[in-house]
Amino acid sequence: MKALVYHGPGQRSWDSVDDPTIVDQTDIVVRVETSTICGSDLHILKGDVPETAAGTVLGHEAVGVVVEIGSSVGSVVVGDRVLLSCISSCGRCRYCKQARYGQCLGGGGWIFGHLIDGLQAEYARVPFADNSVFKVPEQLSDEQVLFLADILPTAYEVGVLNGRVAPGDVVAIVGAGPVGLAAILTAQLYTPGKIIAIDLADSRLQRALDFGAHSTINNGREDALAQVLELTDGNGADAALEAVGLPATFELACELIRPGGRVANIGVHGHSATLHLERLWTRDVTITTGLVDTSTIPQLLKLVADGRLDPTVFATHHFALDDTMAAYDVFADADHTDALKVVLSGSDVAVHVDPRLAAPAVA
Ligand SMILES: [Zn+2]
Ligand SMILES: [Zn+2]
Repeated sequence: MKALVYHGPGQRSWDSVDDPTIVDQTDIVVRVETSTICGSDLHILKGDVPETAAGTVLGHEAVGVVVEIGSSVGSVVVGDRVLLSCISSCGRCRYCKQARYGQCLGGGGWIFGHLIDGLQAEYARVPFADNSVFKVPEQLSDEQVLFLADILPTAYEVGVLNGRVAPGDVVAIVGAGPVGLAAILTAQLYTPGKIIAIDLADSRLQRALDFGAHSTINNGREDALAQVLELTDGNGADAALEAVGLPATFELACELIRPGGRVANIGVHGHSATLHLERLWTRDVTITTGLVDTSTIPQLLKLVADGRLDPTVFATHHFALDDTMAAYDVFADADHTDALKVVLSGSDVAVHVDPRLAAPAVA
């Protein structure tokens, strides 16, 4: 099969590699219908993720069709269309039993395209299938559910839920890239009074308005703290969601909240940030961090099925799976291409009947 293979910092190619097979009887093999690229794939390519070995197939978000199942898999059958989440769950460890799948101690967590071969490929081996995949409701398209694999639950769980966004709240969202926009979208499930988007790029701020933000602040030109105070009668925001991952944006988020407010960090940080305890210690604030668990995927799937959430707004560019190399170029140059998420589509099920689908199911 073909797959996007990481060959060390700065090096990727679309290679022929061995087809994946069942290794553990809790595995399934999926034919990837639709996949996408994530900011963390770019981090790996920059060399920021040393545990990812050269030779690993990248990608951790996809929708696919089950073509083979291990003997102990009971929740899906060959032919089922499933959403593959960025987080896998062993289902047995102390964290999985608390639905904290991101912290799995049993071999799950973020493994696709990180510690094992990932999903920017024609086929993928999916471990712990019973605990880790989600059947896609028949009426929903791949594109409607694809972004539930990562950015939507990330923004929702680590931002909106950790930040305890409540009806009427003023929510400041620092950073209006894909994850910040996903936070703007999912914060609206809680009817905040105001969503204030803060970013350095006017193009991203315009998109934030399109996604439902009420006010925007370009903190390259404007004093974000002064603006937020003005918009909140001098109080500050009830919740500030950090969706960038830089020391300056984390420190800004901590300045924007009112006493008793919540700072929810979503950004991926590579450097230490300063925590101004000398200013914060009397202010009753809560600061949270987190890796996504994807425990809210069933809830988000229902919202999409009921027409309450439309993730297709993230799909700005479409490519054939075979053109994944070109898709990387476009996604990595988002400042010029305005890409949010790219959709990589494999060959159509209807016109290309997979020989493995026609074969009898593995007992
Ligand atoms: Zn991702
Ligand atoms: Zn586990």
